Amino acid sequence: METWPLPLGIADHRHYYLASLAAEVHRTYFQKYPPLSVKWGQQITRKKRRSIRLGSYNHTTAEIRIHPLLDSPEIPAFFIQSVIHHEYLHHVLGASHNRRFHAQERQFRYFRESKEWIRRHLWLLLGTKRNRNLAIPVVAQPQMVLF
Ligand SMILES: [Zn+2]
Repeated sequence: METWPLPLGIADHRHYYLASLAAEVHRTYFQKYPPLSVKWGQQITRKKRRSIRLGSYNHTTAEIRIHPLLDSPEIPAFFIQSVIHHEYLHHVLGASHNRRFHAQERQFRYFRESKEWIRRHLWLLLGTKRNRNLAIPVVAQPQMVLF
């Protein structure tokens, strides 16, 4: 019996977590397409912002990037999966957020929950204070989640 070379190295659980979320989205909704590479984007310094791009799809490399701020125990898995699902749709349907895109987007099992979650928790990602945010009329809040 052979001995294994040790140490084996440190497991990348953060990457494993995202990969497993992406695998489930692929298996459930996009099985007839090859799986795409889904990775965390580059970490950037936390700052106040008016909008945040939670995910992106690169048509040239066919890779999906997820904003590293979503790599947090405060972010529910279904929300990360809704972003992955959205970016997969860009791979399948193209860049436009047209009616067909929106209709497909609603096929995600937790579509409504995801919309509701980000409506309540966007302040977490934008680095703003919740209480101050609530005092501002809805129309004046820094919103727009672009992806
Ligand atoms: Zn989009």
